[in-house]
Amino acid sequence: MIVVPLGVASATPTALRHLPAVALWREGSVFLFDCGENAQMRMLQAGIKRSKIECIFISHFDVDHYSGLIGLLSTLQLQRRDKAIRLVGPKGLQEYVEWNLNFSSIEIGFEIIFIEVEDTIDDAVVIDEEDYFVVARALKHRRFCLGYRFQEKDKPGKVNSDLAKEMGVTDDAHFKALKAGEDITLEDGTLIKCNDIVGHPRPGDSFAYVTDTEYCPNAVKLALNTNILYHEATFSNTLSDKATETGHSSAKDAARVATEAQTKLLVIGHFSARYTNAHLLLNEAREDFYPTWLANELRPIFTDPSHERGIITPKVELKDLTKQTTGSYGGRSSDNRRSGGKNFRPRRNDSDRGGRGGYRSGGDSDRGGRGGYRSNDSDRGRDSYRSRGDSDRDSRGGYRSGGSDQGGRSSYRSDDRNPNRGKVINVKVNRDNQYNRRDDSNKSNEPDNRSGSSRPSYDEFNRF
Ligand SMILES: [Zn+2]
Repeated sequence: MIVVPLGVASATPTALRHLPAVALWREGSVFLFDCGENAQMRMLQAGIKRSKIECIFISHFDVDHYSGLIGLLSTLQLQRRDKAIRLVGPKGLQEYVEWNLNFSSIEIGFEIIFIEVEDTIDDAVVIDEEDYFVVARALKHRRFCLGYRFQEKDKPGKVNSDLAKEMGVTDDAHFKALKAGEDITLEDGTLIKCNDIVGHPRPGDSFAYVTDTEYCPNAVKLALNTNILYHEATFSNTLSDKATETGHSSAKDAARVATEAQTKLLVIGHFSARYTNAHLLLNEAREDFYPTWLANELRPIFTDPSHERGIITPKVELKDLTKQTTGSYGGRSSDNRRSGGKNFRPRRNDSDRGGRGGYRSGGDSDRGGRGGYRSNDSDRGRDSYRSRGDSDRDSRGGYRSGGSDQGGRSSYRSDDRNPNRGKVINVKVNRDNQYNRRDDSNKSNEPDNRSGSSRPSYDEFNRF
């Protein structure tokens, strides 16, 4: 199985992080966990075919987790898909999808099979196929939210073909029967016992997707002995109160689930936009659970690297994308890009460094994650890469604050201060009071509305 994070942001996307979505590739089929805005584009960029999607699992109805769904379904229709697709999620998914398709007059030419989970359900098998199944469990969030576990069924043991031939087995049908666990009788009457020829069944691989939740026992159950656990780590440990208040996990919570579940690999994602350097979260998680990586957008994570490497390779034209990114943040200096290129050029054969590096850092640039990934990978660039990673923390921080966050921050503010904003909303949406108040308060020097929130301002997080 190959896990490809497509979006590792939490509710607020940044210039470099997209809304939540994770693709799971298995035997040529694709399973999508959450479908944030841009998920379909990220699939394209990741080199994952949208036509191969078998099922889409939606965790819950916070908009960042399903805002890409209708667009993706529309694309599948435009691609003339004819194979059925299964959409799994909390009750209400069908109503939402059908209403939207009707509203936009999109006639879907393929079957959509809805599998909805009532909010009274604690756990359910939502998919059960010949060689895999998927379990959903209720998590602990502000609204009903499901975590998922994708589990391959046990694989048959390996046939010792040399021994089989020695014992006189030559017929393909006999091999097949042995593999299926049956004893066979040869033409000369010899009984061949399956247990003598075939090894023990091999446990199937497993993947758990646990996001938007506080620590809860169901998270541990989903993750029990998984090969890969994708767990949210929205906040740093120092904001654990905030995590509880908003129904999220800290890095420590994620590590706790991983420890109790004895997962092989914890991948953390769903980072709050305040953390321009997610290494803070990685370090915290690793204090309690060392085999932790940062989810890195578009970078595949393998359960069997020796066989799976190369199956999925990002297809983005990185140079062009970088131009785009740079364009939208025109203020960013070429120095930043250059340092990005230097810091984040991870791949061999890479001739377009400046741009690519900059872009890649957007892919989230987590050293540790990548380091870990590479270590699994015995990549030649590993050492130099790592040392670069270690020594470049500061410059990376500089890049990030100069790039994504400031960009995001300034647009956030300018939007907030836009004098027309209140007026537009006044006319079109009946939420004028709230916005007027904000306007008035500015004039009368009363504290800004936002100061009522317990959320610290972005500036306070500069130190990260
Ligand atoms: Zn979320």
